[in-house]
Formats: sequence, C-alpha cells, structure tokens
Amino acid sequence: RFPLARAFSTEATPAAETAKPASTVRRQFQAETAKLLDIVANSLYSEKEVFVREIISNASDALEKLRHMQLTDASLGGEGPLSIAITTDEEANTITFTDNGIGMTEEEMINNLGTIARSGSKAFIEDLKKTGGSANASDSIIGQFGVGFYSTFMVGNQVEVISRSVTDPNGKGYGWISSGTGEYEMYDAPDAQPGTKIIIHLKDSCREFSRPKRISDVIDKYSSFISFPIMLNNAQI
Ligand code: ADP
Ligand code: MG
Repeated sequence: RFPLARAFSTEATPAAETAKPASTVRRQFQAETAKLLDIVANSLYSEKEVFVREIISNASDALEKLRHMQLTDASLGGEGPLSIAITTDEEANTITFTDNGIGMTEEEMINNLGTIARSGSKAFIEDLKKTGGSANASDSIIGQFGVGFYSTFMVGNQVEVISRSVTDPNGKGYGWISSGTGEYEMYDAPDAQPGTKIIIHLKDSCREFSRPKRISDVIDKYSSFISFPIMLNNAQI
C-alpha cells in the first residue's frame, strides 16, 4: 500500500498505523537542540501557522531532490506523481503531511532531526546567547529566523516522522517520535514507503490546525509558489 494513495482515500489513517511499536530506541537531543525546542514549544509566537509553510517547504525540497536524481535514474522513488498530501483529523486533533520525495535514512533522521544543522536555527541560538534567552526576545527571533522542522513543536505536543530513503535500495523505513522535551525515540518502520510522513498531534490550544479551511488559508498565504501538487484531504489545492 502506498501512503499517498492512502492519503488520497477518504478514510482517515487508522490510529494503529501511526502508533509506535513497543521496541524503540531512546536518544537525547543535542543540548542546544533541546534548548531550542524548549523555547519554541513554549513560545507565545503569534504566527504559529508558519509551521505549515516550513513543513511544505521541506517536502518540496525532498521532492526536488528526488526529481533531480530521477534525471539519471528513472527507477528511483515510489509510485505515483511527486506530490504533497495533507490530511487533517478534527476528532483525533492531528494534521499529517506526506511526501513521496527522497526520504531519509536512519542516520539522516538522527542528524537532521536531532541536531541543529539549519543555519536559521544556529543564528537563533547565537542570538539567544546574546539576549540571555529572554522570552520576549525569543518570540521575535522565531519570526525573524524561522526554525524549520522544529516549528512543529509550537503547535504539536507530539510529533512523529516516518521516513524511508530512496537512496538506499536495501534500506527500510524508520520512525522518529518526540514530544520535544529533551529526547526522542526511534523504531523500525518496515512498511514505510519511500518518502516522508509527518504526523503532528496538536496541542489542545492549537485545534484550529485540524480544520481544513484553516490550513488551506495558510497555504494560500505562504505556499502558492510550490511547484508540486498539494492535496488537502483528497482535493488538490
Ligand atoms: P532546512 O530545511 O533549512 O534544512 P529544517 O529544520 O526545515 O531545516 O529541516 C532539517 C532537515 O531535515 C532538512 O535539511 C532535511 O535534511 C530534513 N528533512 C526535513 N523534512 C524532510 C522531508 N520531508 N523529507 C526529507 N528530508 C527532510
Ligand atoms: Mg526547512
């Protein structure tokens, strides 16, 4: 079964499919990442909606990388057209982003999601040191630099990433799950399809982001330039 096909179907993803298995490996975030996450998660930043832009932009980058690789090896990747599928579930209070782009290996997930690689986040930390990490300053810093993937923790109390890289033909998929507090857990996800799925379990105060109208408005505002089809609950927007 192909994740996009599932995302395109009208059925909500069954809860069992996203629940992490019993066997997981617990890892610590790099110290600076943990600090950044703590600030982001507890910020009062008023434009929390930018997480949608950040996640779509990452999906678009991943699709662009795969498209580039396919120029020399057309067999790379999964089925179906390169696209981004978003599903919302008001009852479960979740929003899920799926792309069939390049995906991540286990090592890439550890390095890219657990440490601060991003230049914006590095600048954020530098600025924090200068301002002594005051809450007021951190709000404007989030707006100024953007914090990429970590912006999901502004709206989510738990974020799960399931990914499989197209670059490793013998590779399997991996799951990554964190509540943004110091550590994350990883597990094998043998059924994962090539690409990346990000499931955000929304905070109660962020229920608005499980409403499709709210999400389509944010996409209109920030992501109209994305050159891949974006599906929202089965309909192209
Ligand atoms: P940036 O996009 O500036 O590099 P982010 O914090 O937004 O920083 O993302 C961190 C990294 O995580 C990305 O550089 C990429 O390597 C990886 N990543 C995030 N989302 C995806 C995705 N959907 N598919 C593949 N890799 C991803
Ligand atoms: Mg990014």
